[in-house]
Amino acid sequence: MVSSIPDKTVQRIEELRKLLHYHNHRYHVLDDPELPDPAYDALFRELQALEKEHPDLQTLDSPTLRVGAPAQDKFTKVEHRMPMLSLDNAFAPQDLLDFDRRIKDRLKAHISTDSVHSDPALFSSARVDYVAEPKLDGLAVSLVYLDGVFSQGSTRGDGLIGEDITPNLRTIKNLPLSLKDAPTGRIEVRGEVFIDKRSFEALNEEQRKKNDKVFVNPRNAAAGSLRLLDSSITAGRPLKLIAYSIGLTEVEGELPDNHWDTLQWLASMGVPIGQDSALLNGIECCQQYYDDILDRRQSLSFEIDGVVFKVNHFTLQNALGFVARGPRWAIAHKFPAEEATTRLLAVDFQVGRTGALTPVARLEPVFVGGAVVSNATLHNMDEVERKGVKVGDTVIVRRAGDVIPEVVGAIESERPSNAETISLPDRCPVCDSAVIVSDDAAVAKCSGGLICSAQRREALKHFVSRRAMNIDGLGEKLIDQLLQRKLVSRPSDLYHLTREQLLELDLVADKTADNLLASIENSKETTLGKFLYALGIPEVGEVTARQLASHFGGIEGLAGANVEYFVPRGIEGIGEVRANTIANYLREATDLPSVIKRNSTDPAAIQALKSWMQTSIPKIKQQEIDKILEKYPTTEALQQIQSTEIQSRGGSRVEGVGETMAELIVGFFASPQNTDEISRLQAVGVHWTDRHVESSSDDSLSGNTYVITGKFADIKRDDIAAALQARGASVTGSVSKKTTALVCGESAGSKLTKAEALGIPIIDEAGLQELIS
Ligand SMILES: [Zn+2]
Repeated sequence: MVSSIPDKTVQRIEELRKLLHYHNHRYHVLDDPELPDPAYDALFRELQALEKEHPDLQTLDSPTLRVGAPAQDKFTKVEHRMPMLSLDNAFAPQDLLDFDRRIKDRLKAHISTDSVHSDPALFSSARVDYVAEPKLDGLAVSLVYLDGVFSQGSTRGDGLIGEDITPNLRTIKNLPLSLKDAPTGRIEVRGEVFIDKRSFEALNEEQRKKNDKVFVNPRNAAAGSLRLLDSSITAGRPLKLIAYSIGLTEVEGELPDNHWDTLQWLASMGVPIGQDSALLNGIECCQQYYDDILDRRQSLSFEIDGVVFKVNHFTLQNALGFVARGPRWAIAHKFPAEEATTRLLAVDFQVGRTGALTPVARLEPVFVGGAVVSNATLHNMDEVERKGVKVGDTVIVRRAGDVIPEVVGAIESERPSNAETISLPDRCPVCDSAVIVSDDAAVAKCSGGLICSAQRREALKHFVSRRAMNIDGLGEKLIDQLLQRKLVSRPSDLYHLTREQLLELDLVADKTADNLLASIENSKETTLGKFLYALGIPEVGEVTARQLASHFGGIEGLAGANVEYFVPRGIEGIGEVRANTIANYLREATDLPSVIKRNSTDPAAIQALKSWMQTSIPKIKQQEIDKILEKYPTTEALQQIQSTEIQSRGGSRVEGVGETMAELIVGFFASPQNTDEISRLQAVGVHWTDRHVESSSDDSLSGNTYVITGKFADIKRDDIAAALQARGASVTGSVSKKTTALVCGESAGSKLTKAEALGIPIIDEAGLQELIS
């Protein structure tokens, strides 16, 4: 039968396979594509067509298999000829030291008991060579290649028996269907299948659009996708492979005698391996590696839950052997878990500074991300609905880095029958005012304003905060007492507090009272940007407040501006180009009839101006002239027109202030409650430095690049980054020759070492305060 197929076809099919493998490798493994997508697709379709015509010629490693196979009823079982064992875990630094000590003890004992294998120098070395690999949070798989062709792939299962998921694995784009220059025989590659963070977000976005279930985390999505009976669906999932070792491998020729070289050998055959792996000498380097990866954890493109350390040399691995659970020569040093499950006991609604109601989950206390968590945010009612969480559910809680703990989702299979739906209250839980829901149902707010003690409290907290008025020492507990005793009900009241009043409060002694009064006094001298931020205008953050300050230079201009000023509405039909033309002609005109004075009603004068515009400005329409003159009725005004003002979709005059925010700002200053409070604050002596200082401080660090590491006593790392960025600097994750300085807190690790080695200046916390004050 085969003989009836022309040689040319056989050759072409072979050639196409090779080409497609080559380009696939460049694209998905090397991340360096050579061929534009349509050209790749054309080759792919050509091969598909030829194989359809000659099904016998489709090989097991044909790239066309990547689109998935017909759906199966169930997976068949696969026995792992070499068990896929699990690793011991280390949680504390001491665990890692113990691991190293046990290894050295065993290896030394080996020299005396087993003279056959012993290479005394190797066995008694004071520093063992380890290979370190970030531990991906995915699914372990085994891939068997026979004579270089991917033949069978399976899940880890219980370590002894897994499931055959070959068709699903074939759809993974960076998994080689055939190995480059592979020796004859069997090679078993072991690795982790995962979904990177960005693809995970995109996948969930797509699921949402299709009204399909969203996945709670990348691991979950990867596991679900790999175990779909219909592999054509798997083909659409952004799965990736990273190999970390070999299993039972029997090939012609010598194999590498250590783990590191084995990884390089796999890479040379086109198998993707981890880019962050490292060969390290001695356990101290392992500790440093761990610290460094933990530091970079949030910025890595994929989720990891720790670092795996393996003794590099196979001779040593063999001598160390196995215990029931796993190898003695490897350990997984786990990061503090970022996710945990617990029970959702209740949902309370917290009232914020602007009255917005935030659902907060009350949880059975659970240890996650290195701390005990008993409250977590649910953001808003939209999120509650999207996540389908009910009171009584077992929920997944996430706490990563400095981020506020959040409820990620519920485990629906564990939902009790009496689980309760979460609903928005119709009265404010604090002041009992009506709750108003915005038109798009996204925001629910207490309508109580300043009669709502929760809003008053949050407004005060915001006002005194470091980036606002920076009143040091006025914490939550003191604010609560001041409110309860009615000593303070609005920010300006703070400036009337007396020493005697403060001393009556709990926990306030002489020194505290003095410090607090000094701090309140100091806060009177501020910047306009900080003052505007402190006022708590809805939606106006630190950056916008600064923009407003440098645009207006004073509070009067800002308070007098209307929405039209912020977002000029322009004139219908005038696009960007013509707006420019018109503004230019008017500005540069020397023969513009100058007869029009303010509010002139002289018809002849207006007519003269109209005909001047008609004849001098190209392509201007009569109705546009009328509208322009309506808005700019004097010659002077006409000559000062900015093109953005007459453009039909005018840009905003202050960066970041669009129509919605403009309305909020104008609304804020329209309320006498707010303007009275501003007057009171100015009356007690709050003042700011002039506009010049304000705007020049904005980019004082422009062009500089900083790296932040270690722990800081008084400031969070995010805040440091924000403060540096706000001054025009960039902040990056790793130290290089281009780094201006390393901002370094307590117990810094490898970044400090590197900065010192490169001779990069180190800034401590005190130096930092100076830099950003
Ligand atoms: Zn309220």
